[in-house]
This record gives sequence, C-alpha cells and structure tokens, in this order.
Amino acid sequence: MTDCLFCKIAAKEIEADVVHETEDVIAFRDINAQAPTHILVIPKRHIASAADLTNDDGHVLSEIFAALASLARSEGLDGGHRIVTNVGADAGQTVHHLHLHLLGGRPMSWPPG
Ligand code: 5GP
Ligand code: ZN
Repeated sequence: MTDCLFCKIAAKEIEADVVHETEDVIAFRDINAQAPTHILVIPKRHIASAADLTNDDGHVLSEIFAALASLARSEGLDGGHRIVTNVGADAGQTVHHLHLHLLGGRPMSWPPG
C-alpha cells in the first residue's frame, strides 16, 4: 500500500525505533508511549486489521506472537504485560495496518477505556 504509514515504516521510508525484525515482521517503539514499554509489532505485508486475517496468515501470526513473547522477555516485563489490537473506529484504530500493541512496565486496570 503506497499511502500507509506502517508500510512506509516497514520499508524504512519513515524512521522508527526498530527493536525486532524478521523477513515478515517488524517491531518498533510507539511514538506516543502509553506505558514504560510500548512496542508495536506488525506484519511487513499490508493487512488492514485483525478482521482481515485469513487462514493463509498463520505463519505471520505465529511470528508476531513469537516476537511479542521475546520482546516481553527482553524488556523485562516479568510482572506481566498486555497485548492489544484495536479493530475499527469504535475500538480506536487510527492506523489501518494490523499492529499489536505490547504494553508493560506499570500496573494496568480492567476494563480498558
Ligand atoms: P491504534 O490507535 O491504531 O491502535 O494505534 C496506532 C498507534 O500508532 C498509536 O499508539 C500511535 O501512537 C502510533 N503511531 C502513530 N504514528 C506513528 C509513527 O509515525 N511512528 C510510531 N513509532 N508510532 C506511531
Ligand atoms: Zn500498510
């Protein structure tokens, strides 16, 4: 997708603080961190949201969750962490390229806002 912010970050056309990268997945720190650790994990290939995943995306999904687990360990989130993906306007999705938020380093409440 030519006009997608996260496609541009994946293609290194826009700078980001990249903390993990494989052939299919890239992770970088959120520009507006909501917790001491706030990392976004995305597929490099454009997928609009979790609602657009298909059975063919199993490999990239397993890579995303492996990255989340590895980053939680390397960030020292021993007390726990939260993984969030917003889908659509009501959930507050602002960037329409699938991304999983990894949040940690502070206690979190439930339900979310
Ligand atoms: P959403 O609201 O779609 O679930 O999350 C989008 C996230 O992307 C937000 O947390 C926002 O701070 C982050 N974000 C937006 N633009 C940029 C950017 O240019 N660079 C980085 N690193 N994060 C961004
Ligand atoms: Zn994209």
